Amino acid sequence: MSDPVIITVAITGSLPRKENNPAVPISVQEQVESTHESFEAGASLVHCHVRMDDGTPTSDPERFRRLLEGLREHCPGMIVQFSTGGRSGAGAERGAMLHLKPDMASLATGSCNFPTRVYDNDPALIDGLADLMMDNDVKPEIEVFDLSMLFKAVEMVQTKKLVGPLHCQFVMGVKNAMPVDRDVLEFYVKTLKRLAPDATWTGAGIGKDQLTLIDWSLELGGHIRTGLEDNIRLDKDTLAPSNAALVNQAVERCDKAGRRPATAQEARTLLNLPVAA
Ligand code: ZN
Repeated sequence: MSDPVIITVAITGSLPRKENNPAVPISVQEQVESTHESFEAGASLVHCHVRMDDGTPTSDPERFRRLLEGLREHCPGMIVQFSTGGRSGAGAERGAMLHLKPDMASLATGSCNFPTRVYDNDPALIDGLADLMMDNDVKPEIEVFDLSMLFKAVEMVQTKKLVGPLHCQFVMGVKNAMPVDRDVLEFYVKTLKRLAPDATWTGAGIGKDQLTLIDWSLELGGHIRTGLEDNIRLDKDTLAPSNAALVNQAVERCDKAGRRPATAQEARTLLNLPVAA
């Protein structure tokens, strides 16, 4: 049996520019349908933001509640991860939906620059979000935009602000943050293994670099992420018609690399999450 790989699908981001692809799901119903197609195509983890009907990003717990309910019904066993990052600057309300107990939530353990603004995650906010995740049994996915964020996450496990084993996502290709660089990715992986040998990781590439990070991560033994949040194109000439089309593309890359998509239950085991009934 080849080495199973968790495919994350990031269905809907929070940046208005993504709307130049009409396939980005906005309403809860569209999000559930898009996730279901992606689940059938081989994704085992869904990363979620929610929007108002007019497309404005929100962290409205009621939207998250309806989304979680739909996903649990239509994608049994799939790992549901809520984003706490989509409304940078909004403060503690970014964690206002964690009481709904999704399986996971994203947690950026530091600040950096984004294309047109600061992605601000001050120490008190990080601690507050981590506390909420601990209290609600929500596993964090550490969003590593920079090396210091990896060290911060390890320190938080050592000081019992987070429960291990860690799952880190290395994000490359966001303008003004970490560019796509193979040597740096290898250094991240090596450093993570040295500091937290039981940790798992995913590589995420933004825009045209999505497939580059998928290929590198498959080769280096990591997990992968795709979806319209990060990239709206199948190739430079073609808009992706759906999240599932991007998942299909990722599955092809798994085949080429001699790995296979993990089932939802396998993904749960790999991430040390309870196996769903
Ligand atoms: Zn996101």
